[in-house]
Amino acid sequence: MNKEQDNLKTIGHWTGGRAVEGRTERYGAVYNPATGHQQARVSFAGTEEVDRAVEQANEAYERWAASSLSARSNVLFAFRELVNAHAEELAGIVSDEHGKVLSDALGEVRRGLEVVEFACGIPHLLKGEYSDQVSSAVDVFSYRQPLGVVAGISPFNFPVMVPMWMHPIAIACGNAFVLKPSERDPSASMRVAELWAEAGLPEGVFSVVNGDRTAVDALLDHPGVAAVSFVGSTPIARYVHQRATAAGKRVQALGGAKNHAVVLPDADLGFAVQHLSAAAFGSAGERCMAVSAAVAVGGVAGELVDALTEQAAKIKVGPGRDPASEMGPVITEEARQRIAGYVARSADEGARVALDGRGLVVAGHEEGFFIGPSVVDQVTPGMEVYRDEIFGPVLSVLRVDGPDEAIELINSNPYGNGTALFTSSGEAARRFHRGVKVGMIGINVPIPVPMAYYSFGGWKDSLFGERRIHGSDGVGFYTRSKVVTSRWPAPRAHSGASYHFPTNQ
Ligand code: NAD
Repeated sequence: MNKEQDNLKTIGHWTGGRAVEGRTERYGAVYNPATGHQQARVSFAGTEEVDRAVEQANEAYERWAASSLSARSNVLFAFRELVNAHAEELAGIVSDEHGKVLSDALGEVRRGLEVVEFACGIPHLLKGEYSDQVSSAVDVFSYRQPLGVVAGISPFNFPVMVPMWMHPIAIACGNAFVLKPSERDPSASMRVAELWAEAGLPEGVFSVVNGDRTAVDALLDHPGVAAVSFVGSTPIARYVHQRATAAGKRVQALGGAKNHAVVLPDADLGFAVQHLSAAAFGSAGERCMAVSAAVAVGGVAGELVDALTEQAAKIKVGPGRDPASEMGPVITEEARQRIAGYVARSADEGARVALDGRGLVVAGHEEGFFIGPSVVDQVTPGMEVYRDEIFGPVLSVLRVDGPDEAIELINSNPYGNGTALFTSSGEAARRFHRGVKVGMIGINVPIPVPMAYYSFGGWKDSLFGERRIHGSDGVGFYTRSKVVTSRWPAPRAHSGASYHFPTNQ
């Protein structure tokens, strides 16, 4: 370790109800993307540290699962108040490590908070069913119980919201939760752990193990982990799903995306351009629901591209903490170069770069990981810029003749996370949402992220596993149900043994 590393803040883990130092000598660099400088290092947990965290979580689980619904919802309500009170602080932590602008970071905290609010209603959500007198003196009822210790593995792009899709519901259902956040921006999770403790959550019910693949594999293989929720890129989602399923766990693994926004000739073009631009370039395109492909139908293409280019060129790119900034830097220098490479190669493949963000320099932040918005026109489905999830501020424009061709294009894509249609026709909208093989659809809404009381998840390569995240699917994922058939015979009402399969009379 050199002198500079010596002075760096070190982020450890949160286990057994407190912050603990890492025991390995392995670390990841945490940058401030706006300056391009490393601001901390994060400990990478080894298998033994993960084992210990799961063990502690398991001990905590026994008591937490036996606590009353009122006790659990009281902690949830207290947590809700604390997250709300610290929303701006959390947004600042997110902005400093992720790079997104403060208003956007605050937005993700608020969307995460909605899941906490949903989970506050857990007594209602866990109500079972009861059938009286299914047979003579026989009643049947069902109810749900928690699974045990469950793990969450999350991506860099929503360090508060994505983990909050998981842990409030898992914990409200009576599980203990172990979070492995992204190694790029781990600090928000450590602060959230403190807020859970302050809310009165017993120690060990919420833990954070920081790390890389070693920590992930240790969770996937651990016999004490009952279920895994994963959100990240498609190759890792597929891997996590296969490995954890093979280890006998329940798994939901949400993957990457290529989200299309279709613009019909009858759309309000001014409205579509404003919203499309925000959906493509907000958060520097680093949202799983970002629109990365605009599909122009019929004669709308020329005007659409001109207006989009004009709109995108006006976006104020700068540090996330500057209130004037509308778009921040991307997560790493490596990401910046990868994104720039896609723009360069798109021209080689025959597309037209209508707006080129590669040359952007932010004065005073020359070493920051900034890249401006790019609009790439005349893109065809075979091109790399369309095929790959770029996860940056690059919008491809494709042209098709009619709405059915647009639906076909979307359905030929391996991803099926989100899609949107801009139109003024109800008939076209209905045909579109019924026809696309996509999990989340917006009609004149470019980023159709479902509310907490619905479930979030795509189709095809955007989700591996049966259950989506949060909403009723979330409650179902973190619990399993029992059906009890009971008979309370009246004294001396014995009718004698019968040896046939029980039927109802
Ligand atoms: P990522 O897949 O690189 O990382 C996600 C998590 O997996 C991190 O915690 C990381 O440490 C871990 N990980 C990375 N490589 C691993 C490996 N080889 N083995 C085991 N674990 C590994 O994703 P990212 O770059 O952090 O996030 C961006 C991606 O996440 C994009 O593809 C985006 O579309 C996707 N995403 C999807 C959704 C959704 O809801 N579908 C939401 C947010 C982000």
